Amino acid sequence: MAQIISGQQIADELRVEIAADTAAFTAETGIRPGLTVVIVGTDPASQVYVRNKGKAADKAGFISHTIELPETTPEAELLGIVHGLNADPAVHGILVQLPLPKHIDTQKILLAIDPAKDVDGFHPTNVGRLSVGDPTVLAPCTPAGVIEMLMRSGHDPHGQHVVVVGRSNIVGKPVAQLLLAENATVTIAHSKTLDLPAVCRRADVLVAAIGKAEMIKQDMVKPGVVVIDVGVNRVDDPSNPRGYRLVGDVDFAGVSEIAAAISPVPGGVGPMTITMLLKNTLQAARQQAAEGVLTQA
Ligand code: NAP
Repeated sequence: MAQIISGQQIADELRVEIAADTAAFTAETGIRPGLTVVIVGTDPASQVYVRNKGKAADKAGFISHTIELPETTPEAELLGIVHGLNADPAVHGILVQLPLPKHIDTQKILLAIDPAKDVDGFHPTNVGRLSVGDPTVLAPCTPAGVIEMLMRSGHDPHGQHVVVVGRSNIVGKPVAQLLLAENATVTIAHSKTLDLPAVCRRADVLVAAIGKAEMIKQDMVKPGVVVIDVGVNRVDDPSNPRGYRLVGDVDFAGVSEIAAAISPVPGGVGPMTITMLLKNTLQAARQQAAEGVLTQA
């Protein structure tokens, strides 16, 4: 039976480390990292997520604020808020919760965030810095969480052949860049890939970021593979009080019979995302504090 790579356990360990590092940073500089999350509208899933981010940030010793705006907020007003946060020295990290309402141009908003405060790592400046292998970049949270999970579970991808299934800007592409930076040999597969099972069977490490429930079956992986399942999919389940359950992109029951290690869903990549947001916010605060010293000198 495969080793279970528990994102929950790794996230818990990391949060203790981040809280300790934050306390040391605050003692040294007098600065508490500031994270502001902006949410527009009342999407229930986004609201739960934003609340959890706020709680986690408070626990880590940050100053966290949530700006809740009505669905009808004009684009210009949101842009004004982002500019205000850019100029506020107490705010080190800004996160605008996606998706935004249709009348707002998401790219315009993401472009307006100061790259130094872009703790989601989606600003084109940070995307570019990631692609040139800049180790000081604020990397997107979910992909960075995948790397932490591999490293902390004893599966350094150095020299390994990693197949990433999925090429989205949010997960697939940035996780491939981070894996390259860790000296993995990376193949990116997607919906147009010919003979996907054959490509997947060549993987020492498989990262699934597809959004298709249990698509990766046992006969698509080689024995001894290490699997990180990023997918989160709802499947109907009348026996569950909610009427559904969450599954990943990998058929956990089948694949775990022959894999060396596999991350579950839930309890896998999910808990890592907010944790990496905390890590990025602390990193942003450190970098801005160092910039401040340089500017004063
Ligand atoms: P996305 O933007 O929809 O991208 C999905 C990718 O999978 C695309 O590149 C697509 O290929 C590829 N794909 C779709 N069907 C395929 C098939 N049959 N064979 C091979 N490739 C296929 O999704 P995403 O934002 O990257 O998210 C992927 C999954 O991760 C989702 O389940 C999402 O909920 C989950 N997720 C989890 C977290 C977390 O915190 N745990 C965070 C983000 C996302 P094309 O490019 O050719 O269309």
